Amino acid sequence: MMEIRIPEKAAGILNMLHQAGFEAYVVGGCVRDSLIGRRPDDWDITTDALPEQVKGLFRHTVDTGIRHGTVTVMLGKEGYEVTTYRLDGEYEDFRHPAEVSFTHKLSDDLMRRDFTINAMAYDPGQGLIDLFGGVNDLKDHVIRCVGEPRERFTEDALRIMRAVRFSAQLGFEIEEKTFRAMQELSGNLVHVSAERICTELMKLIVSPHPDYLADAWKAGITRVILPEFDLCMETRQNTPHHCFTVGEHILESMKQVRPDPVLRLTMLLHDIGKPQTRTTDESGRDHFIMHGLKSRDMAETIMRRLKLDNHTIRTVSTLILWHDYRPEPEARQVRKALNRIGEELFPLFLEVQRADCLAQSAYMRAEKLERIARVEKCAEEIRAAGDCLSLKTLAVNGSDLKRAGFSAGKEMGMLLSELLQHVLEHPEDNDKEKLLSIAAQRRFCLDTE
Ligand code: ATP
Ligand code: MG
Repeated sequence: MMEIRIPEKAAGILNMLHQAGFEAYVVGGCVRDSLIGRRPDDWDITTDALPEQVKGLFRHTVDTGIRHGTVTVMLGKEGYEVTTYRLDGEYEDFRHPAEVSFTHKLSDDLMRRDFTINAMAYDPGQGLIDLFGGVNDLKDHVIRCVGEPRERFTEDALRIMRAVRFSAQLGFEIEEKTFRAMQELSGNLVHVSAERICTELMKLIVSPHPDYLADAWKAGITRVILPEFDLCMETRQNTPHHCFTVGEHILESMKQVRPDPVLRLTMLLHDIGKPQTRTTDESGRDHFIMHGLKSRDMAETIMRRLKLDNHTIRTVSTLILWHDYRPEPEARQVRKALNRIGEELFPLFLEVQRADCLAQSAYMRAEKLERIARVEKCAEEIRAAGDCLSLKTLAVNGSDLKRAGFSAGKEMGMLLSELLQHVLEHPEDNDKEKLLSIAAQRRFCLDTE
């Protein structure tokens, strides 16, 4: 018999419910993850006790989703969601059941769940309850709907994205009939909120298989949620640097970068504007002039549409804008690059460039990687030397200049930025006296012009 080790606190909740005469099981993601040796994020519990009865048994509870039968039992700082066996009524708006009703049958509750691997329950006394072949599908690495796929996806279109997301997280294949229903019904994703889509998309791209986004494309999902990507899949790149379409290059570049949300999102969108900037010269070679800028602008629009937070949007936009900028490994150029991109983002910028390079053709790859490695080393030396890289550490500021007789305003801003440019080229000149004298010379030139 398969055994699952339930953490003490979750087991305590099951016990409490059992002793009060109710049925109770851990259910869903935690059962799935335990069976394949992944550590569950959270332990959800399903029971025939009604929400009010659950609340009566535990001292601290929170009505998280009481209308849907969910009460969170608080044990110390940890919360455990306890949900009453539920039957979903008719679905409306392709996402939500119009009403839910409680039931006394565990099988009703398991039947409403999305995939066989997510529809198992476990309790230490009875062992595993697997009514739909979840164990087999786990063994065979298959994502399969509980029941009739077309019905399940019509009820809730978000499940179409969840199928690809679980497939990418687990490295599983989507069963054929399930996949065909996804292709048929992916258009319904227009009815699902941007926030929910964004959550699933992010889980998909930070998974061990971000390139399974190709399945989202094949299923017609990206056509709805990211049509810009579909255009990339159709855009060839006839240049020695590339061996893939823009879309395939994007998929490969995500695989080549760490599973960090900002980095994966940057790779997903770094070339998104390439189709719009492609030109072909007389020899038939393709060029993508200023595609960093175009991609940045499009990425910003896409990220706003997906309702991502402002900090992520800002960071990813900056990385995309500069992704194709290639300073030589020489102190002056690297200081300029550090100034433009910012010291904090610079390590990420290099990671993006490495991933981009590794997703290109082998042509000049060694040289490209060598440049990146040397720029990295150069940046470390600059950092160690403590060179000034921004206005924050420039030896003069606005008030210094005012005291020296310069008038405030736009010109002062320009003067400061000129002084910074000077210091980026001559770090040894980052000294107050020195910079004030350069400023004075500058004024003399302006006055006599
Ligand atoms: P993870 O927490 O890693 O995202 P999970 O399987 O726990 O994976 P949740 O979204 O937390 O997924 O949902 C918990 C359980 O609720 C699922 O395992 C599944 O049984 C059920 N479930 C969640 N969303 C849906 C849905 N849209 N349709 C049907 N069942 C769902
Ligand atoms: Mg979960």
